[in-house]
Amino acid sequence: MDLQLTQKCALITGSTSGIGFATAVTLAQEGANVVINGRTQTRVDQACERLRTTLPHAQVRGIAADLSTAAGVKVLLDACPEVDILVNNLGIFEPKAFEEIQDADWEQMFDVNVMSGVRLSRAYLPAMKQRNWGRIIFVSSESGINIPAEMLHYGMSKAAQLAVSRGIAEVTAGTGVTCNAVLPGPTSTEGVGDFFISLAAAQGVDLEEMHRRFFAEVRPSSLLKRFIEPSEVASLIAYLCSPLAAATNGAALRADGGLVRSMV
Ligand code: NAD
Repeated sequence: MDLQLTQKCALITGSTSGIGFATAVTLAQEGANVVINGRTQTRVDQACERLRTTLPHAQVRGIAADLSTAAGVKVLLDACPEVDILVNNLGIFEPKAFEEIQDADWEQMFDVNVMSGVRLSRAYLPAMKQRNWGRIIFVSSESGINIPAEMLHYGMSKAAQLAVSRGIAEVTAGTGVTCNAVLPGPTSTEGVGDFFISLAAAQGVDLEEMHRRFFAEVRPSSLLKRFIEPSEVASLIAYLCSPLAAATNGAALRADGGLVRSMV
């Protein structure tokens, strides 16, 4: 299937690794001009280089900007004032008991996971509407529906993204712009990998046993029973970015390995 993304400019936030990087690779494979973002110039340069090594003809540029603040978002907007496709992928997680989550933790989770996408969408949407074409994708999580007891503030931010995404779709009515959310399940990224390595060490078991326990005890409803590959989330994101997905707007689509027990 040709996703018809040639020459479309796609910005993917938080894309030096994980789902963001996989999305940049998939969109570049489909012919889009991609913009990679992370906090440091070194990591951004390394990610651009990795992408060029995989796809020598890829059109890629990198912008270092910390999107946890309005000032950081402005740096990105100054360097990249217009895009056809915005993938609000940036997101952080932090397991912490509810009683331990401080005001500052709640605020940081909201700023990074929600406000980065709100600020960028608010800035890019008017020109998308004027051109009568654009795509905004929020990378939320199954944790936006199944609020995890071990990180309520993360669940709150992921649920908020679903609300914002649906709300933005409402204001695209009658235009060629769409806004959708994607809900990944547990995905095998660097950050998640490091977390499980430290958890396995703390529990005195090997990594394989740690993964088995996770799907048996923490996420037993997973039908996939393994971690999702970042590319398996990226392919759903890429489809939503395509002109072929024009009829999908205001939706929350799952790439969660069947974890959420809901039919719609
Ligand atoms: P990751 O931790 O692998 O990558 C994070 C990226 O964000 C890196 O490029 C990092 O440089 C960048 N980053 C971090 N803070 C930043 C900031 N303030 N400004 C700019 N860039 C910043 O991430 P991931 O696990 O691939 O997650 C991507 C998205 O998918 C997140 O929104 C996450 O909530 C969601 N998600 C992930 C999983 C999972 O299991 N990995 C599951 C469900 C949802």
